[in-house]
Amino acid sequence: MFHHVKELQFDVRVSEPDPRFARLLLEQFGGGNGELKAAMQYFTQAFTCRRAYPEKYDLLMDIATEEFSHLEIVGALITLLLDGVNPEMKNAVERSSLAHVMNGKAGKETFIHEALTNPQFLVLSGGGPTVTDSVGTPWSGNYVNANGDLSVDLRSNIAAESRAKIVYEYLMQFTDDEHVRDSLRFLMTREIAHFQMFSAALDTIQPNFPPGVLQGDPRFTHTYFNMSEDEAGRGRKGEGRTRGPWNDGQGPWDQGEWAFIDDPVRHVRETGGLTEQDILGSERSMRDVERMDQELSVQRSAEVTVSRPKRQALKF
Ligand code: MN
Ligand code: MN
Repeated sequence: MFHHVKELQFDVRVSEPDPRFARLLLEQFGGGNGELKAAMQYFTQAFTCRRAYPEKYDLLMDIATEEFSHLEIVGALITLLLDGVNPEMKNAVERSSLAHVMNGKAGKETFIHEALTNPQFLVLSGGGPTVTDSVGTPWSGNYVNANGDLSVDLRSNIAAESRAKIVYEYLMQFTDDEHVRDSLRFLMTREIAHFQMFSAALDTIQPNFPPGVLQGDPRFTHTYFNMSEDEAGRGRKGEGRTRGPWNDGQGPWDQGEWAFIDDPVRHVRETGGLTEQDILGSERSMRDVERMDQELSVQRSAEVTVSRPKRQALKF
């Protein structure tokens, strides 16, 4: 169950209204890397691990709930930044001026102009947040990545936290309000912390690569296809190629090396469209892979089956 506590997780303040920044901040309310996306992603992912991995269910629900708390903070900030729009909108009879927040007519004009950069603040939300990003695109469930495999989902979450962090970092360049910056720094820092939590959780799942159960075909796991060439490299085999640990020497494995296929067109032709290619780089045999597939299948299926109640009605 959810239980609402009236205090915000972080006490927010703003020095003065700033409709322009309110609009930018919508990115973290209803945008693709925002707080609602994060909350819904972790919330949605949690269901499939409730019984089999209860400790991960806790982690996902705790962080989802914190993200809802961040959504509340961002919504509060946006509303404060739009202060003046809201009460004035309610004054349907008087159409009184915004003078109490602005200095004189010019200030008022500026304020209205800035609010108009997102007309929805004026004509739809009445001075509160809208469930959109900063250009008015409605929030979408398509932002949510939940694939029912913890190693996949936790990696999606590490990526989501990275993006949320960098968006806060960018946003901080667009406000000088120290109070607003304090809140953004808090929100940004929590995304850093969540990144570490998801990384640590991923490490507890072993093996966690490749994602899922099935191993890769060892003929193709260690091959790098050189799909580009430049003037320097053309015609001089192996020279002028960009090499690094992603295609050269010992890869990120405990065994095997990268096989650099310098001329992929010729290689594909000579191997009957790769069907006759031998195992390159990898020290695994096809038989090894079959054995690992079976072992991991049994292990993963046992983890889930063991947690399943017998005979009685299913209980969440
Ligand atoms: Mn957050
Ligand atoms: Mn987060």
